[in-house]
Amino acid sequence: MQSLRFDNTFVRDLPGDPDDGAQRRQVHGALYSRVQPTPVVAPQLLAHAREVAALLGIDESEVATPRFAQVFAGNALIEGMTPYAANYGGHQFGQWAGQLGDGRAITLGETINAAGERWELQLKGAGPTPYSRTADGRAVLRSSVREFLCSEAMHHLGVPTTRALSLMTTGEQVVRDMFYDGRPAPEPGAIVCRVAPSFIRFGNFELPAARRDSALLKQLVDYTIRRDFPELYAEPGGGEEEALYAAWFAQVCARTAVMVAHWMRVGFVHGVMNTDNMSILGLTIDYGPYGWIDNFDLDWTPNTTDAQGRRYSFGQQAQIASWNLSRLASALAPLFTSLDPLHAGLQTYVDTYKTAERLHVAAKLGLTECRDEDVELMHALYVLLHEYEIDMTLFFRALGEVKAAAPTLMLFSEAFYDEAKRGASAAALNDWLAHYTARIKQEGQPDEQRRVRMQAVNPRYVLRNYLAQQAIDRAEQGDATAIQELLEVLRHPYDDQPGRELYTQRRPEWARNRAGCSMLSCSS
Ligand code: AMP
Ligand code: MG
Repeated sequence: MQSLRFDNTFVRDLPGDPDDGAQRRQVHGALYSRVQPTPVVAPQLLAHAREVAALLGIDESEVATPRFAQVFAGNALIEGMTPYAANYGGHQFGQWAGQLGDGRAITLGETINAAGERWELQLKGAGPTPYSRTADGRAVLRSSVREFLCSEAMHHLGVPTTRALSLMTTGEQVVRDMFYDGRPAPEPGAIVCRVAPSFIRFGNFELPAARRDSALLKQLVDYTIRRDFPELYAEPGGGEEEALYAAWFAQVCARTAVMVAHWMRVGFVHGVMNTDNMSILGLTIDYGPYGWIDNFDLDWTPNTTDAQGRRYSFGQQAQIASWNLSRLASALAPLFTSLDPLHAGLQTYVDTYKTAERLHVAAKLGLTECRDEDVELMHALYVLLHEYEIDMTLFFRALGEVKAAAPTLMLFSEAFYDEAKRGASAAALNDWLAHYTARIKQEGQPDEQRRVRMQAVNPRYVLRNYLAQQAIDRAEQGDATAIQELLEVLRHPYDDQPGRELYTQRRPEWARNRAGCSMLSCSS
């Protein structure tokens, strides 16, 4: 860790809050507040991601030291760290929510690795900040395990995401009312060190815009492009300010589209797509009450807070990302003399999403190209998967095993949740399979070649909600090995891993309605 080099541009180049300390306040004219992590009693490392340690140039031997635990629990700073909490706002569930900010996240600094890459280190759960409002700035073990595992799982699935270096328990209890039913209870506290090139969100731009502080807004936009999108200067017109902003907004739209298309490919439901949870880099960020699709259902949301409106359900995500980009566009409008480039950016979102969706349709079905009929074939399949309660991950994985000359429904026997529905599905599924095999015969790819292509995009292992919950249950009993095992499995989600079949199984019946497995609140 001595080798970590810091270059803290955010606090160096941008205006900060003149006050320090964690007393709660509205912060105007500043993009962050300096604040120190609050030390914890007994930090203990439960798990770490070795790829992330390597990325940062932290040696495996250092990870096991007490010093590592001290630093990544917020008890000690390394020279060069300048901790701060960012100031941002956001639209929550469709409504402008005003100033939010990092209420329990504290950035330690921006480190530059041996390859010259910039990685921001951020502790989540490290104590109060000026933005903590009425809350305590801490995080519980269950939500920290979920963030730690899912960010790494997503990375290994090839989905743009923030990363996680470490998962630490604090030795302290945190009180939470998990079901918002007036029964608060103590739970073990934890801290995750998150890692990303930047944690800037749409909401960082929305707040100065809402306060009509165009100068501050412009400063943040210029900074973001300079630090995180330098390649845009080389684009035609990149020397001219408004053209540069337009190219940047289009780039944010395109990246967001690619991210959401991946979520749909792997069956990930974010759960709280508020604009303060949308990364300007198009990374999946803020793992809260997210969930993974078991039986295919576009209406499903894991978030109990959203059970009524289903605003953030699986099938809504592409729409909501577009709505969120419109909020970002409104925030950026003061920097443009005409709104046309912002509309063009939003169109880029639509076009990029369509292209990405077609790529994924072809890839998931093992086709070399995507025709319009193939999109229809996929949508027809979605209807069947929903109607007959079929497991998304198991179905697509099994689809790769189809032999063009001898298709059989036997391949999908593990993918059903309901025996009656399995029986009822046979005719319709056979019919669909006949269309599918006709299509793959037309392409004439050898079965084995198609299988290999399909298994590279249809994962065998995803972080099913019940698997995460089992690891959490054991961790709460003091046994972190299930977290480490799960992380190992999720490092190779597309490989068949002999001996690890347990992790491929569909959601067991006991988990259907269990808290943490199918229902999650925002309490974390
Ligand atoms: P989230 O729904 O987790 O994205 O959080 C929304 C806002 O509430 C953000 O500004 C968070 O920083 C803040 N927040 C959530 N939980 C806590 C907590 N335990 N302590 C302080 N702030 C929190
Ligand atoms: Mg958030």
